[in-house]
Amino acid sequence: MRHWEKDTSVKVSPYLQKFPQLNAFHGKPGFISLVGHRGARGLMPENTIEGFEYILDNDIIAIEFDVLLTKDEVPVITHDFYLSKSITRNAEGNWLLKNGPRISDLTIADLQTFDVGGVDKRSSYGSLYPEQAFLSDVRIPKLSDLLELACLPKGQNLFLLLEIKSDLSIDKRKVIEHIVFEIQKRSLSNRVVLHSFDWDLLDECRLIAPEMPRSYLSQMPESSEDLFDKPTEESSPDFTSLNCSIPEAIQAAGGHLWCPYFKDVTVDLVAEAHNLGLPVCTWTVNEVEDIENMIDTGVDGIITDYTDRAKRILKSRGLNWR
Ligand code: MG
Repeated sequence: MRHWEKDTSVKVSPYLQKFPQLNAFHGKPGFISLVGHRGARGLMPENTIEGFEYILDNDIIAIEFDVLLTKDEVPVITHDFYLSKSITRNAEGNWLLKNGPRISDLTIADLQTFDVGGVDKRSSYGSLYPEQAFLSDVRIPKLSDLLELACLPKGQNLFLLLEIKSDLSIDKRKVIEHIVFEIQKRSLSNRVVLHSFDWDLLDECRLIAPEMPRSYLSQMPESSEDLFDKPTEESSPDFTSLNCSIPEAIQAAGGHLWCPYFKDVTVDLVAEAHNLGLPVCTWTVNEVEDIENMIDTGVDGIITDYTDRAKRILKSRGLNWR
């Protein structure tokens, strides 16, 4: 019998009625939530409309993606604080020679002259994604482009785990207000979970957009050898100095979802989170053995670059996804 099937301590989140979008990130017997990381980074260019459409075409209802603000205060979907030479070509089609400039130093018009339709597979970052499609004329999307997709019939079942990147050079409140404005304008608050490593920023979200639930990211320093997913530059709590467990700290902060790095996840921590009414979605789980292990810990959801691989594993174990 699988751990989570016999774990009677699992409780349903007390917030499901208030925030129905949490259903998309909540496990139930026989079901695990699969969340496409940056769309489906293992298969399609990350954080692109093309990648999000792949998700929609492949029976996944939840995506995680990253939002930053441009110089002219347009929320855009991209991960790094600067243009990354590993994934960015200039208007002439050549790879950038170095990282930069910063997203916050470029206008949306500047930004959209660059092509992010693939990774440079000669780079150390690109070598991690040998199966990723290589496309051309792909632009960094505006948040509004994805929200418009979510408003179309084909996107009507899509749920968004929207990571607000905490750019310390920009006022947090301004970033949140621009993002929330775009969501509220399209009446999509009930399809979005706000997600961040910056717990102070999430506290601002509680005040600015109380109608949207909040997801707390964590990564312990001892498991931060994963260079490309590390929350560098970002402000995040010092988890080594907490006087309680991380699930308890999230509950105290009024959080609704916990997203720990997968190497930090244990059966006991998942059970503790569930006892506090907190669903657990873990990131970024790509290898077969790691996906298997995370299923065994009883997590509610798995955030992965390889949604196809995760689906096959769930099926082979008699499980389903949503
Ligand atoms: Mg992210």
